[in-house]
Amino acid sequence: MLVHAGDELDYRLEMIQVADDTYAFIGEKEDFSRSNGGNIVNTGFIVTDTGVIVIDTGPSLLYGQQMREAIGRVTDKPIIKVLLTHHHPDHIFGSQAFADTPVYALPGTLESIRGEAQGFLDNLYRMVGPWMKGTRVMESVRVLEIQHENIGGHALEYITMSGHTAGDLMVFDEKTGVLFAGDLVFHNRALTTPHADPGDWMAALDRLLNMDFRILVPGHGELSSSKDAVEQTRDYLLWLESTIRDAVQRGLDMNEVMQIPLPERFQALAVISSEYPRSVIHRFPVYEEELLQ
Ligand SMILES: [Zn+2]
Repeated sequence: MLVHAGDELDYRLEMIQVADDTYAFIGEKEDFSRSNGGNIVNTGFIVTDTGVIVIDTGPSLLYGQQMREAIGRVTDKPIIKVLLTHHHPDHIFGSQAFADTPVYALPGTLESIRGEAQGFLDNLYRMVGPWMKGTRVMESVRVLEIQHENIGGHALEYITMSGHTAGDLMVFDEKTGVLFAGDLVFHNRALTTPHADPGDWMAALDRLLNMDFRILVPGHGELSSSKDAVEQTRDYLLWLESTIRDAVQRGLDMNEVMQIPLPERFQALAVISSEYPRSVIHRFPVYEEELLQ
């Protein structure tokens, strides 16, 4: 019998119940690789009386399909809406598996999808190979125009922020107190900065510190039932920005900045040894430019 490698691909999605009617799939705290197939992300769903609301769709068509199968094992209610928290590839490319459902995102996210999704997709095909089979950029994403919605017994708040990207959507369920924070919050995993605006991001984190939620689902890493994950993200972002800015002002070059020892409290963050140099590449030129002006 001829067995194709592609036939065996299984994300083995790990579903956890976060609260009543609320579930999350927790991805690996890793970089994209052929062994994880791009499942480095958290996604989730809320089962309302009317139907299911999906929050982010993962890195590939296959992930979306397997997510959908897993949802089907929990409920036979229809999937009525998909929300994308932002435009990064690990969060959006499963959307095709929900092509019969309206997919919504913030205007800034739509714009970024138009400009960058094809490049992200090409890159993911290179990094995770066969897992991406059949995945295309989904064209028909709609603008999310509402901030509140009462749906099937759940009062949902759609909170518009930015800072990780130009459009960061958070979903808060007043009934359960669960907050899907997207990539504004990373937990025990180094944050990513390719589209970061640190000022906006800090403002978003400050707002989060004042929000009453019971459980926070970060974009990456474990759930948090306190402000820990928010504080950790804020602490690292502050350190990152001040370290790079100060180093530029002291005249260090990019390689020297990459050699700066990490404070002990950040050393246990997953993938920091790859994310920190990447962040230096993103942020060093910004501060260099600032200094020249
Ligand atoms: Zn992400």
